[in-house]
Amino acid sequence: MREVLSSLDWTRLGFYKSLLDEAGITSFIRNEHTAQLINILIAPCQPSLCVVNDDEYDAAIALLRPHHDPMLPHIEEWNCASCGENNPAEFELCWNCQKLGEQASC
Ligand SMILES: [Zn+2]
Repeated sequence: MREVLSSLDWTRLGFYKSLLDEAGITSFIRNEHTAQLINILIAPCQPSLCVVNDDEYDAAIALLRPHHDPMLPHIEEWNCASCGENNPAEFELCWNCQKLGEQASC
C-alpha cells in the first residue's frame, strides 16, 4: 500500500479514485469512514488516496498528474504598464484601465 496523495477535498479524492478504477488500478481512500467522526475530534487527519500495489504507484501518479492542480505549470500574472495594476494571466486587457497587456503583443 502506498499513499498517492492526501486532501481534505472529498470530491477530488473520489474523482481521482474513479480515474484509477477506470485504469484498472486498485485503490482506496484511507480514513474515508472515520475522518469525519473520530479523527477530526482527536487528531485532524487528512484522508488520503492510496494504491494497494506499490508497483502501480507510478502509473497512478502519471494518471492523476494532469488533474492535480498544484502540479500544473504556474500561470504568471502580469502588471499593467499603464496603471500598474496586477492582472491574472488569462486577462488580455487590464481589468482597471482596459489597456492591452504586454504578453498579448508577444
Ligand atoms: Zn491598467
